[in-house]
Amino acid sequence: MGYSQPAKVPFDIEQYARRTLEGPCFVCAILAGHPDDHHHHVYEDADTFAFLSRYPTLLGHCLVAPKRHIESWVDELSESEYLALQRVVHDVARAVAATVPTERMYSLSLGSQQGNAHLHWHIAPLPPGVPYRQQQFHALMAENGVLDVDDASQAALAKSIRSNL
Ligand SMILES: [Zn+2]
Repeated sequence: MGYSQPAKVPFDIEQYARRTLEGPCFVCAILAGHPDDHHHHVYEDADTFAFLSRYPTLLGHCLVAPKRHIESWVDELSESEYLALQRVVHDVARAVAATVPTERMYSLSLGSQQGNAHLHWHIAPLPPGVPYRQQQFHALMAENGVLDVDDASQAALAKSIRSNL
C-alpha cells in the first residue's frame, strides 16, 4: 500500500492550548481508555506504548510514552530505563520508515510543565521532496497546519506500522 502526504489544513491552536492547559494528562487519559482520547496504538509492552499523533503534521507521526506518569527523562529515568525507552523509539521509527516514504526521521521530546507534562517522544518522518525551508521545525509545527486525515485512514496506517514491527 502506498502512502502519500495528505494536504495540510488549518489547526485551531487556541482550542488545543486550552484543552492542554485545562484538561487531564492526555497520555494517562489514553491509557485509561477515556472515550474522548481515542487513538490508534502501534506498540505496547509492560512499560511503554506508542500511538499515532492525533494531530499529525507528518504522515506516520507517532508518540512513544512510558506508561508511568513521569515528566523528566533526565531526572526520573535510570540509564537502563532510558535506553529501554529509546529501544522502543528505534523499533517504532524503523516500522514507520518501512511504512511511509521517509527521507529523514525526526525524533524529539517536547512537552510543557503547564500541559503535556507526561514524558513522550515524537517520531516524525519527513517525506522526500519537502523544500528545505519547510523542513525541520516548520514541518512539525501545527501552527503551519495539520494533515487532513480521517479515522479510517489513520486506523489503516497504524495497522501497517504494527505489521512492520
Ligand atoms: Zn500522565
